[in-house]
Order: sequence, then C-alpha cells, then structure tokens
Amino acid sequence: MAYGSVTAQEISLFKSIVAPEKVSAGESVRELHSRDESFHKRCRPEVVIFPGSSKEISGILKVANEKRIPVTPWGAGTSLEGNPMPCMGGIVLDMQEMNRILEEREGDFQVVVEPGVVYKELNKKFAKKGLFFPPDPGAGATIGGMVANNASGIQTLKYGATKDYVMRLEVVLPTGEIIRVGSNAVKSSSGYDLCRLFTGSEGTLGVITQITLRLAPLPLHFTAVLVNFNSVEDATQSIYQIMCTGITPAALEFLDGNVIEAINAFKNTQLETKPTLFMEFHGSNEAGLKEELFLIEEICASNNCFLYEAGIGREERDRLWEARYATFEAMKNANRGMEIIIIDTAAPLSRYPQMVDFARKETISKGVKGYIFGHAGSGNLHMGLIKDNNDLKQAETAMEAGDAIVRRAIDLGGTATGEHGVGIGKRKFMSHEHGVSLEIMKRIKFLLDPHGIMNPGKIFF
Ligand SMILES: Cc1cc2nc3c(=O)[nH]c(=O)nc-3n(C[C@H](O)[C@H](O)[C@H](O)COP(=O)(O)OP(=O)(O)OC[C@H]3O[C@@H](n4cnc5c(N)ncnc54)[C@H](O)[C@@H]3O)c2cc1C
Repeated sequence: MAYGSVTAQEISLFKSIVAPEKVSAGESVRELHSRDESFHKRCRPEVVIFPGSSKEISGILKVANEKRIPVTPWGAGTSLEGNPMPCMGGIVLDMQEMNRILEEREGDFQVVVEPGVVYKELNKKFAKKGLFFPPDPGAGATIGGMVANNASGIQTLKYGATKDYVMRLEVVLPTGEIIRVGSNAVKSSSGYDLCRLFTGSEGTLGVITQITLRLAPLPLHFTAVLVNFNSVEDATQSIYQIMCTGITPAALEFLDGNVIEAINAFKNTQLETKPTLFMEFHGSNEAGLKEELFLIEEICASNNCFLYEAGIGREERDRLWEARYATFEAMKNANRGMEIIIIDTAAPLSRYPQMVDFARKETISKGVKGYIFGHAGSGNLHMGLIKDNNDLKQAETAMEAGDAIVRRAIDLGGTATGEHGVGIGKRKFMSHEHGVSLEIMKRIKFLLDPHGIMNPGKIFF
C-alpha cells in the first residue's frame, strides 16, 4: 500500500481541527512516540496529535483517510510487541488528554471512561466504593490501550481478561464516522458482538473514544501463598493439579530459578532461587479460604515442595507482588546491553507442563539463556530469551528458539499471544495459528479500513 505523507498543508489542517499546540512535529515528541517497551526497531511518526474529543478525531481521520496517511493510536506506549509503534510513519494519535471519567453507574457496577484513563488511577478511585477493574497488566497502561490489546494480568485467572469487562464502546472509524457498539445489559444476544471485534483489534480498525466497563466487587478476604520446588516439573504438575480441584486462585504465578535470581539482585530480596509459585486466593470468609489452602498444601506436598508458606499478611503479600511485577526490569538489569525476546504463549492447561518442558529443553539445547515465568494458572507462559546483537550467530539462535517455542504452543492447541497482542513481533505466527480464517480477518479489516490507514503493519504483514 502506498501511503501519503504529512505536509505543511496537512499540519495546518490539523491545527484547524484541534488547538495548534496539540499538534507537534518536534523531534523529542516524535522520538518519544517511536518505540514501546519492546526491542523492535524505532520508527518515528511525522506528527503527534493530542486530540480532546471524538469530534476532533473524526476530523483528523477524514483528512488522513482522504490523503492515505497512516494513523496509529497511542495509549501509554507500554506494549511489548511494537503494537503502538508507527511503523509506516504518518500520525500518532496520543490519547492521554482524553482521560476523564464520564459517568459512574455504581448501581449497575459500571463506569464510562475516556480511553486515556490509567487503570491504576481508576482502581484507586473506586477502591473507596469497594469496586475494581480486575485486569491488571502491572505497567502504567491506559484503559484504551488495554481494550485495544485485550490485556490481562495476574488476576485474570479468577476475574477474566479485559474483554470480559467491556460492555459498550464508542469508536471513530477511519472514514470519520462515529459509532456506538454494545449494551449496558449484562447479557445480550442481539446480533454480531462488535464490542468483541474492536476489543483486541490493536488500533487497526478504528479509534476507541469511550468505554463502558463493568466493575467487580473487591474481595472481602484474601490470603497469599509462596511455594518452592526443586524441579520445574514438580511445579508445573502442581499447577495443573491445583486447577483440576475446581478451586480458582485469584492468581497463580510461576517463576523459575533464573527469574528469582534476577529479582533478588534487582529488588534486594532473599527469595529461594528455585522454581516458585506465588498464589493468591480470594473469598467471602476466612474459614472457606482455610479449607481451600488445606487442599493446595496437600497437592504441593505430593509434588515434593520443600517450602510452603501460607497465610502471608498484606505487607509481605504486597512485597511479593511488587517483586513479581519487577520481573521485566529485573531481567533487563541482569542482561544490560542485550535484547530480550518476550514469549507470551498460552496453551490448554493439560498441555501447560508439556509447553514449559519444551521451552526449557529448547533453550538449554540451543545454549540460549531463558527466564520462565507467567500467569501459569491461565496456561500463559512468559519467557525472556536473551539475544546478543553483537553476536549474530547467538542472536539468530535465540530467535530460532523463540520461534520454535511459539510454534510448539500453537501445535499444542494454544496461541502465539495470551495477552500482549500480535503487534509487529507475532505477525509471523498468524498463518500457522489461524490458517484460512486469517483471510477472514483481513477481509474484516478491508471492510472497515479499505485504505489500510489504521495502524498499518500490525497483526498482518
Ligand atoms: C513491565 C510490563 C509488564 C506487562 N505485563 C503485562 C501483563 O501482565 N498483561 C498484559 O496484558 N500486558 C502486559 N504488558 C503490556 C502492556 O502493558 C499492555 O498491553 C497494555 O494494555 C498496553 O496499554 P498502553 O496504554 O500502554 O497502550 P499502548 O501500548 O500505547 O497501545 C497498545 C495498542 O492499543 C492501541 N490503542 C491505544 N489506545 C487506543 C485507542 N484509544 N483506540 C484504539 N486503539 C488504541 C495502540 O495502537 C496499540 O496497538 C506489560 C508491559 C510491561 C512494560
């Protein structure tokens, strides 16, 4: 597809749609919007616009559509697959100024927000009312970016992913048309589910400008558990058996010895450098939680755990989660000057041990340093593979190992990406994962965005 570029004429057009100071072609602003948190090669937009309303976005898209200028929406830029990077140049629409909470529908456990609201801020505000938006990617993500990536996090196991909380959306289509999809009703069988279509579309179909989210009541009681094993096999077997009990932990995270070592060095903690499970359980009373923990302990003991620490208080629990959230930074800290290939596969639970086993053997046999962690209870395997760009052979081998792990997960009935989205990095696996139905996705994209201006170069080649 041949794209138009942003000339002085378009800049002045944009300045007539939004306030002139909301249009920036300055070096530093363009540089700030040239990369997310992934290792993908930087690419600068020609201009960054900070819109304040759907109407303004509609005006910008009309111009862009007519002139075939690429448009890439931007939340907080915390993606890990190059999702918000403007790889064909053009316009970045930075949504941070559309950050108002528009309506609090507490009676319905719902809230209407603009896309630039940061989910942590939303949760801080609603904690006082005993409500929260559970998907929790850890980074400073915006609700718009979370909806567009269908993000999830450590509590998805019990509470679901972002898609499970999106009730209504307002979207500006590439033509400038403003549409509303979804319903405030808890259930609906009314036609195609367009909310789900836009959720996870990574800004490739339109710009999300309003979101109605369902909220969940905060748990009354919680307890945290830390377990250490001597082998990865024992840990992954325990994960599978715990999930088979019918008890749903709020969180069940797996971290291998390499990850713990990196965290200890980065956060100055003294955790055992052994395969570890961090778990959290939520319930309406303490007696029920105690019963659940009894069963969990039995399972871990039968799989040879050598340390089982339950009933961890709030302070220690917060410290554990802080350590878990620091994994990405801890890996970077331990491997300065290196790139980190992030694996985000997910597989059916019964295949989780197999997926992890394959990933370990693949990295060990190829001599690639790998860190294994992730939301194990949801079958989600994260891995950081260390890639040394100063050693071309090693870099190639690391990429090969990463590709083999993703393909294996797909062959096990899983997916290339459990939560980070396709972006640039996972496009190469889409045909293997979706086969002929990838063509249907392309047709949907063409229907809504015939000139391919919305976030080009993502999801598809
Ligand atoms: C340390 C770390 C840990 C992470 N852990 C997790 C995790 O546990 N789970 C998880 O899911 N993710 C995780 N992530 C990835 C990332 O935080 C999430 O994908 C998050 O949803 C991105 O939100 P953002 O606001 O930064 O969006 P961006 O990265 O800015 O954008 C994400 C995508 O959404 C599009 N977009 C943004 N706003 C809009 C809009 N209004 N309309 C249409 N499209 C839009 C962009 O074009 C892009 O394709 C992690 C990232 C880091 C750095």
